[in-house]
Amino acid sequence: MSTRAACVVGWPIKHSRSPLIHGFWIRKHGLDADYRREAVEPEAFADFIRNLPARGYVGANITIPHKEMALELSEPDDRARAVGAANTLWLDGGRLRSTNTDVEGFTANLDDAVPGWAARPGEALVLGAGGSARAVVYGLIERGIGTINVVNRTIDRANELQRRFGTVVRPAEWDALPNLLSNAGLLVNTTSLGMTGQPPLGIDLKSLPVHAVVTDLVYAPLKTSLLAAAEARGLAIADGLGMLLHQAVRGFELWFGVRPQVTAELRKLVENDLTK
Ligand code: NAP
Repeated sequence: MSTRAACVVGWPIKHSRSPLIHGFWIRKHGLDADYRREAVEPEAFADFIRNLPARGYVGANITIPHKEMALELSEPDDRARAVGAANTLWLDGGRLRSTNTDVEGFTANLDDAVPGWAARPGEALVLGAGGSARAVVYGLIERGIGTINVVNRTIDRANELQRRFGTVVRPAEWDALPNLLSNAGLLVNTTSLGMTGQPPLGIDLKSLPVHAVVTDLVYAPLKTSLLAAAEARGLAIADGLGMLLHQAVRGFELWFGVRPQVTAELRKLVENDLTK
């Protein structure tokens, strides 16, 4: 049998850690498989995806700026359709199917880091209303969270999330934060604030209840100042690297037929790469 191959498609693509993650699992499971980077400009994307099998691929991860186009070019599952973006494609017979694995990356990371998080009391408070916030909100809805406050600089984008997902989403302005924090059982940062090279997030966590869980999608730096402040208060945390690793699991399983594990060894490998 010939080598099964998948790839990550983006523009640019150099920064992607996906080859490191999938390469680790390919070696771990001793598979005759390959995972490559593909730099594809927006104008060439549709052609590239339509010819995925001819290029020798059984599937692909899709990253910026192609996730919306990938949705249009494939048969999405409920998650990809609800989020409005596809980040994982696979060939199923002659069909090109897609999903959005950020949804399960987000919830599986919380399950791993803070078992039972979804049963803790309080509302969810999501900072940001961009692409990753859509996946986070959908994941929270899947897990039965009843109130999801979404605070965003541009309130129209938070309103758009309510139109997409219904009244479980409550859009709010930044100045509502002190009140919202005191009712929160889960705080999620989906903005790029706090990322290396971006402005700091700078919110005061003192009114968060003691049982609150704090998670940050930003993974560079690994320990953001939000997570450091939460830890200093003794709150449970889950970091962005965990989500990045967990979101990769489903694609690997779909392409190569083995469900891989997110282990301490894999985490260390990617941590070393991020900090070098
Ligand atoms: P996006 O669609 O561009 O959304 C960015 C969000 O950040 C928007 O809500 C935006 O608010 C807000 N924002 C940006 N600059 C701001 C500022 N100066 N003040 C206030 N708000 C600001 O990006 P995304 O795809 O959602 O990604 C967001 C972050 O999540 C990135 O750091 C990304 O690396 C990370 N991420 C991590 C994972 C993971 O697996 N760990 C997965 C996906 C994304 P406006 O709407 O007002 O512009």
